[in-house]
Amino acid sequence: MKMMPGITTRFAPSPSGPLHVGHLLAALQARRLADAHGGRCLLRVEDIDTRAQHAGYLALMYEDLEWLGLRFDGEVMVQTRRFGVYRAVLEELRRQGLLYPCFCTRSEIKAQVAEMGRAPHATLGFLYPGTCRRLSADAVAEKLAAGVPHTWRLDMQRVQDAIGCPTWHDMHRGTQRCVPTLYGDVVLARKDFPASYHLAVVVDDAAQRVSHVTRGADLFESTHIHRALQGVLGLPVPQYCHHALLRDNAGKRLAKRDGARSIASLRQAGYSPRQVLESLQLALDRGGIWWV
Ligand code: GLU
Repeated sequence: MKMMPGITTRFAPSPSGPLHVGHLLAALQARRLADAHGGRCLLRVEDIDTRAQHAGYLALMYEDLEWLGLRFDGEVMVQTRRFGVYRAVLEELRRQGLLYPCFCTRSEIKAQVAEMGRAPHATLGFLYPGTCRRLSADAVAEKLAAGVPHTWRLDMQRVQDAIGCPTWHDMHRGTQRCVPTLYGDVVLARKDFPASYHLAVVVDDAAQRVSHVTRGADLFESTHIHRALQGVLGLPVPQYCHHALLRDNAGKRLAKRDGARSIASLRQAGYSPRQVLESLQLALDRGGIWWV
């Protein structure tokens, strides 16, 4: 193995439910990659979705991580303390002319996509067809003045015009080419959230100087969006490692909301930390099949 001294990885859970074996797999991948190279593994709490009840789950998560003996380096970063940073980045994107307000509701988007005969994307849902990008400046000004609720979307055609199709490196899949327009104009901010997952994750990976992002294969497509944002914001590009997802014996993906696979329920059922960690290693050896 070629050593990569000084690498930094991170575990970035959204504590919107109990810590689950899927989270634990992500945490282990990050910790082990850092340990294998004598690097650091940081913890970041991704709690920007203020609708979720994070506080209670966060306390339980710390307890579960302690019980498992999983430790992280440096200070914990908490996204709800960084809204000012995200606002400044949004302002920068607005200044570059890359954001536009979108007044479409979720059901309107669904209907527009259905009319075009398109199916929702497996991991990114309904890809926005760009309806509000085509609104006139007067129509936009009128709606904003009338206080019509809106989100802010990233104009991916303009992004692509600005940065082209840059590459990133995936440790499993090799060199990848980012095509900014592939997944539509994503939402970067809402009225009640100053940042979406996509914006916050890119800004924070750079702020924490993460050199290697390990996360589940369900986020592979999102990396196109993240690489595009790194391009327009002039941020460093980490390497990525999208690992296998846990599945049950029938091959169905384990859902995070499946309480039976929470670390707390395994503790209550009498498993030791070592047994939980060994089961996870076994699941990895079996290509991601979890058997407990
Ligand atoms: N917060 C995300 C989750 O809990 C992970 C984000 C990432 O690793 O980029 O699923």
